[in-house]
Amino acid sequence: MKLIFLFLLAAWSVCAEDVARFEGYKVFRMSPKTQEQKDLLLNLATSDDLDFWTEVNNAGIPVDVMVKPEDQKAFTNAMLKNGMNPEIFIEDVQSLIETQTVGKYAGNREMTWNSYYTLIEIYQWLDDVAAANPGVVSVVEGGVTSQARQIKGVKIAKSPGKRVVVIEGGIHAREWISPATVTWIINEILTSTNPAFRKVADSFEWHLFPSTNPDGYVYTFTNNRMWRKTRKQYGICAGADPNRNWDAHWMEQGTSSQPCSDTYGGPSAFSEVETSSFSSYIKTLGSRMDAYISFHSYSQLLLLPYGHTSAPLDNYSEMIQIGKAALTALAKRYGTSYEIGNIAEAIYPATGGTIDWIKQEFKTPIVIAYELRDTGRYGFLLPTDQIIPNNEEVIDSLIAMFEEGEKFGYVTLG
Ligand SMILES: [Zn+2]
Repeated sequence: MKLIFLFLLAAWSVCAEDVARFEGYKVFRMSPKTQEQKDLLLNLATSDDLDFWTEVNNAGIPVDVMVKPEDQKAFTNAMLKNGMNPEIFIEDVQSLIETQTVGKYAGNREMTWNSYYTLIEIYQWLDDVAAANPGVVSVVEGGVTSQARQIKGVKIAKSPGKRVVVIEGGIHAREWISPATVTWIINEILTSTNPAFRKVADSFEWHLFPSTNPDGYVYTFTNNRMWRKTRKQYGICAGADPNRNWDAHWMEQGTSSQPCSDTYGGPSAFSEVETSSFSSYIKTLGSRMDAYISFHSYSQLLLLPYGHTSAPLDNYSEMIQIGKAALTALAKRYGTSYEIGNIAEAIYPATGGTIDWIKQEFKTPIVIAYELRDTGRYGFLLPTDQIIPNNEEVIDSLIAMFEEGEKFGYVTLG
């Protein structure tokens, strides 16, 4: 008996140790103005000890950095010494993490969007939705992961022969609002009675994937809420950034060749089975795609290809017009304000991203990525009472995006 107790105690302490805690971790906000200040931050961004929640950029977006308690004094001093005034933006990361309720999916397709859900629950929900809509919804495997999970999604097609829209979320594990947005869109496509959205919903064959980085997403629930990458082991560090791993100007800019970095692009393009298998799935849809939409957080941005240059390539100017229409619609309900631009101009040059590869390979007319709520008050730890408002305004924006896209002949509605 005593032995069993000791064994249980040992097992418990191993588990407890495995879960990363963030007591006293603060998120500081800086607004670097000079190149020297940016260079200092860029240099610090290569350190494993600091977690940059937003990247150093040329767009005037503040830089948010999570700093552990023992480094805070030195970090603050370094900022002050270089003329930056670090503002404490999140006082204690752990207490914010604890406000994020994880819902229990009760079955019967009753997802509430008042909580975040685990991968298993999201996947069960997808299965249930498909089972309840035979002939319209089918479960599809968009790919696999290094830990042998499925990238599970649904295909929704009310009638055959429609053009295709692909919607993808969760490629960055800690951006929990993203899978919650994609499941909401699935539900709206099936149940919305809003005539304008109904028209959009019924005009396409939809392929929707709430989590394209399932290993990472699971890890944010079991081990480290702030995990971003995949989980394949590279020496002493795990994971590559799956949004730097696509074969589109791979490893050129805004990405790291260091495995421990959060923006590690991997040893080669498509080194991650998640991106390689998912890209194979996308290839089967190829030129049938009218739109590809990717969901990230945070910063409230609408991003267009490309990340290697800020030059207005392909149908950039038309897409700016379409995106602006989407953002006007998005702002109406709650006044939420987004900015728009291509990746390189709206944030910073960064290559190997999903939407760049889609645009480069297929010239799909509408290719866009959302950086969802918020602008940093909560960052990746968006409170659960913002899930539904976020999702509602996204639907408003999608209606306008497709309606405006029809004016350019990119899609046909009805
Ligand atoms: Zn992201």
